[in-house]
Amino acid sequence: MAANVNLAVGSLVWVEDPEVAWMDGEVVGVNDEEIEINCTSGKTVVAKISSVYPKDPEFPSCGVDDMTKLAYLHEPGVLQNLSCRYHINEIYTYTGSILIAVNPFRRLPHLYDNHMMEQYKGVALGELSPHPFAIADAAYRQMINEGISQAILVSGESGAGKTESTKMLMRYLAYMGGRAASEGRSVEQQVLESNPVLEAFGNAKTVRNNNSSRFGKFVELQFDQSGRISGAAIRTYLLERSRVCQVSDPERNYHCFYMLCAAPPEDVKRYKLGNPRTFHYLNQSNCYELDGVDDSKEYLATRKAMNVVGISSDEQDAIFRVVAAILHLGNVEFAKGNESDSSEPKDDKSRFHLKIAAELFMCDGQSLEDSLCKRVIVTRDETIKKSLDPDSAAISRDALAKIVYTRLFDWLVNKINNSIGQDPDSKYLIGVLDIYGFESFKTNSFEQFCINLTNEKLQQHFNQHVFKMEQEEYTKEEIDWSYIEFIDNRDILDLIEKKPGGIIALLDEACMFPRSTHETFSQKLYQTFKDHKRFSKPKLSPTDFTICHYAGDVTYQTEFFLDKNKDYVVTEHQALLSASECSFVSGLFPLLPEESAKSSKFSSIGSRFKQQLQSLLETLSAIEPHYIRCVKPNNQLKPAIFENGAVLQQLCCGVSILCIQFIYVNVTSYIFLHSNATWLGIYLIPGSNGGIRISCAGYPTRKTFAEFASRFSILAPEVLNGSVDEVAACKKLLQKVNLKGYQVGKTKVFLRAGQMAELDAYRSEV
Ligand code: ATP
Ligand code: MG
Repeated sequence: MAANVNLAVGSLVWVEDPEVAWMDGEVVGVNDEEIEINCTSGKTVVAKISSVYPKDPEFPSCGVDDMTKLAYLHEPGVLQNLSCRYHINEIYTYTGSILIAVNPFRRLPHLYDNHMMEQYKGVALGELSPHPFAIADAAYRQMINEGISQAILVSGESGAGKTESTKMLMRYLAYMGGRAASEGRSVEQQVLESNPVLEAFGNAKTVRNNNSSRFGKFVELQFDQSGRISGAAIRTYLLERSRVCQVSDPERNYHCFYMLCAAPPEDVKRYKLGNPRTFHYLNQSNCYELDGVDDSKEYLATRKAMNVVGISSDEQDAIFRVVAAILHLGNVEFAKGNESDSSEPKDDKSRFHLKIAAELFMCDGQSLEDSLCKRVIVTRDETIKKSLDPDSAAISRDALAKIVYTRLFDWLVNKINNSIGQDPDSKYLIGVLDIYGFESFKTNSFEQFCINLTNEKLQQHFNQHVFKMEQEEYTKEEIDWSYIEFIDNRDILDLIEKKPGGIIALLDEACMFPRSTHETFSQKLYQTFKDHKRFSKPKLSPTDFTICHYAGDVTYQTEFFLDKNKDYVVTEHQALLSASECSFVSGLFPLLPEESAKSSKFSSIGSRFKQQLQSLLETLSAIEPHYIRCVKPNNQLKPAIFENGAVLQQLCCGVSILCIQFIYVNVTSYIFLHSNATWLGIYLIPGSNGGIRISCAGYPTRKTFAEFASRFSILAPEVLNGSVDEVAACKKLLQKVNLKGYQVGKTKVFLRAGQMAELDAYRSEV
């Protein structure tokens, strides 16, 4: 169906506009190829017919709570709906069973209080206003009723509201599966309080979000037979380690550093801290405070949450001692030493901070200095001590800070998991995934590479889950279905993770070979993939490479790929800290048994991450997914601003795992798509940025004949009277209620979106 059907003079239309994406107006002239439009903004424009869409003259002023109820389902219609709802604080909208959440950037407390949770309890999806509680409730009920584990996948770009949504889901599930309050420190309380702890150590202010999660997270809530939470496990992915030593204006380092500097005076004294402006790891950026956040209060709140998740006060002391030690370590600068190419602490100030860092780590001061300024080289015949020049010593210092912080974070996750406890007998689980969305910046490094791999994997899961399941079901049921095609991103995944020969494998090889550089690595990539459809070499750079991701092209800079992929602890750092007199610190660096230390193979961040993802996807593949798509309405992070362009980009260009155009189309909707659209099946249309838009029509509701007959026999009791043929009965029943567009398969009735609700409405009228 063409976009321009029935566009006569007087019709209301939407027309594409470079600034606001879509403008509305009235047609004042039409010829063969062009339309003249008087826009409500006052502009008059002449546009090609293909860039004009009809506007619904009866669009309800408050919009519709489910996109499938839109009379005209097209890009401007979808945008208008989200925008007008957003301006009346209706930030949630369904698109079929998927929830779209537009970040309000202001607190809406009434929306999330206990009263609200009570309302959503046990109520079918769609009966109340769209809400994350409704999604959580649907997952919970499906788990209880059908005995299937569930997952809720929350996606969206940085600052879109994934973490906030995740917390609401967890609160609701804790509410549903919680025990009476009298039972003390309950599993669900511990699960909820794990959030502030992980945020203190794993979140930071970035340009995109004042509280950006710098790690991915999958929280698995385990339930017993009676639907009570009986255990939980938190898996985290790829904490951004470079931030510990390197912060660019106007971002911040991890929250915990600022909290500790703002701690009560006795703590500040104990850890010999002071103004954050005096620490190199913090003062590379001019941002120290966050609007509306009081770091001293956050410190106390973090301590309290640590108590709840079972971190003892001794452990807390050790944790903050390590955090303080990292700050002092960062202030140690190096100058040339006496021997050539050697280094030593630059001045008294550096010596002072080195001494304090050693005290806080509870290790020997001289050994700390040696571990930063010297390397031991073991050859076949002898052991040589080699001095490092000042630049290399500074790199060594940063490496130490990063590995300590990473181990600290992993310790916290482990500790929380151990104290919450796993339930080995758990019947089912609900997993909640809060993981970084697709990223494409001006410069993209190893982190973006891993993040985008995650999104490729999730996209594949989404494709497989939805498309394949649909297709198989329809084939099995022998219903009329123009076979769906889906975007298969297998070729991109092969390019990245195939073993041997994929990019990660080649990167590991390069890391193991001492003489490799990022130049030789890039050359190898160019050679290997010169004919790969998804890989290209940008003309102007000798070392960059471009991957054609499902969500668009991303060019990666290889400069730090090798370094960032190497996952090893400098032997001297390991020896130093495993000898710490503080059992907490030495526990972060357990000595490896001699044998495994010798045979320890090269380990890489990329490969480990790939394995973690594989295991996440195996978990997901066995459970029923639900989707929440978060949208960031503006880049100023301010309330009440809805920028069409920004929103469209997030919705349509396949950024991350959900496309809004993936809509089960209601039969009563008119679809206006580019030329070759057919009524059934998946539409693949080239998007403006080279990506692909998807649209789908299908039968989201299906009921076995028995289920259908028993649910709706009340609508036509006579057809079932004396009849044992359920199929015939269902067919008669459907004819009687005059539904259109449904299909009858071999074992089930297939309904369009909205038809179940229609039937239910008839039922309640009887
Ligand atoms: P990142 O990928 O950077 O971690 P994110 O998607 O997790 O981003 P959030 O941290 O959840 O984003 O949200 C960013 C900010 O937006 C929050 O700190 C909060 O100020 C605001 N926000 C998000 N969702 C809501 C909401 N439902 N109500 C009020 N404010 C919200
Ligand atoms: Mg987050």
